[in-house]
Amino acid sequence: MSPDARRRNLIVALAALTVVAASPLPLPLSAKPARRILVLGAGVAGLAAARRIADAGHSVTVVEARTRIGGRIDTTRSAGFVIERGAGWIHGVTDNPLAALAKRAGLTLRLTSYAKSLALDASGGPVAPARLAAAEDQMTGLLDRIDARTDSPAGASLAAAMTKVLRSQTLPPLVAALLRLEITGDLGADLDELDAGSFDEDAAFGGGDHWILEGYDQIPAHLAKGLDVRLGEAVVEVAERGDGLDVITTAGLHGADQVVVALPLGVLKGGDVVLPGSSLGQRRQAMERTGLGTLFKLAVPVSGALPDVDVIQPADPALAPWTGLYPLSQAPSPALMLVAGGPGARALEAMPVEAALAAASALLSRLRLPAIDRSRAWHVASSWSTDPFTQGSYSHPLPGGGAKDYSALAQPYGRRLFFAGEHCLFAHHASVHGAMLSGEAAARALLSA
Ligand SMILES: Cc1cc2nc3c(=O)[nH]c(=O)nc-3n(C[C@H](O)[C@H](O)[C@H](O)COP(=O)(O)OP(=O)(O)OC[C@H]3O[C@@H](n4cnc5c(N)ncnc54)[C@H](O)[C@@H]3O)c2cc1C
Repeated sequence: MSPDARRRNLIVALAALTVVAASPLPLPLSAKPARRILVLGAGVAGLAAARRIADAGHSVTVVEARTRIGGRIDTTRSAGFVIERGAGWIHGVTDNPLAALAKRAGLTLRLTSYAKSLALDASGGPVAPARLAAAEDQMTGLLDRIDARTDSPAGASLAAAMTKVLRSQTLPPLVAALLRLEITGDLGADLDELDAGSFDEDAAFGGGDHWILEGYDQIPAHLAKGLDVRLGEAVVEVAERGDGLDVITTAGLHGADQVVVALPLGVLKGGDVVLPGSSLGQRRQAMERTGLGTLFKLAVPVSGALPDVDVIQPADPALAPWTGLYPLSQAPSPALMLVAGGPGARALEAMPVEAALAAASALLSRLRLPAIDRSRAWHVASSWSTDPFTQGSYSHPLPGGGAKDYSALAQPYGRRLFFAGEHCLFAHHASVHGAMLSGEAAARALLSA
């Protein structure tokens, strides 16, 4: 997600949830013998679940298809400094258990803010602050009117609700551009793909968006310490077996008493992992009503100094699908992370990287920003929508979908099969802290089953 993009959201710390998640064990273990537990997927949800289960004294193995842990946390140092191909920010530090974990791990957080931003029009001219503020007010007013009309879920798209609210008025281009930056830049989906009543009903922590200077990958590394993680082993099927479950992978068969499925929604929707048919139930409809957005990230070196801001906003509809340009202050020489969202981002991920670089060059030239420095031969591009182990960046409610679908996706199947992942906690979906909280919730449910 992009920083601050959820600033319209209620700042709710979800005190009860947080207290449980942040509190140390005890989890009920009783005097029963240790169980054999398998966790599928070594993203933050899977690792947080495995951590809790191992700390409770059970034998736990994490099975991961990739040759690395972290899933949608994907830090690279290939250019000599930290670049985040996946999650970039801890969204909110006040009462956020993920921020507390980062502190315990000794990591350094750096606040970034839209207060330090520059909005550019289609020819690279700065948008006057007063014009920008008026357009932001208009956008907020429109979204508030939609909120007031539609309780979640609405069954209609945000685009349709917007048309209703506008009647025959046309949206001023700057307001349309800000809507795209705010919504598509956050959820990775266009207005016609989102449920009008649910798209912004989730919660958020206060305290601002922060980068982890040592790299986001330090979070999964911290969670995984001492865990048995099998890399490069893709799960193919989970089957019921009398008193337990069999997990069939590309490396063989594991028997387990209980299993946590912490695989991405895209993988589950695609049917790439076969689950017991009877475990699907309402999960199947919930998956149909929950979509996957795409956020494309492209980091490049540039040939001159960049404005001293945290974000450059491409504030004109003609600049779609780009939703933000972030100067990389950690780089020894000027470098920029270009971000695009929605179907246009999917198209960028599907094309050869040279074509995406050409599109980025055209944008920089149009915005009169320094060009890509081809003499420094590096670039870092994401491909979440084409990646078989993710198949999209993160979840959002499709028209007709909402919180109840996320609850259905999190619903355990009996006392043996449990589910975790960013798509299992509506209040904090599409985030790392949401993945962590859902993993811990699945572990608690499993341990008390
Ligand atoms: C571009 C981008 C930017 C983002 N920005 C932010 C941000 O700034 N802040 C924020 O809080 N969140 C952000 N997010 C969202 C955040 O990264 C995710 O919500 C979170 O990391 C998801 O964690 P997870 O454990 O649910 O899933 P994942 O991290 O996807 O973990 C699932 C694991 O399952 C593995 N797997 C898949 N198939 C199989 C299989 N068949 N067998 C075994 N293993 C398998 C995967 O390889 C993966 O490791 C961003 C995401 C993207 C893509």
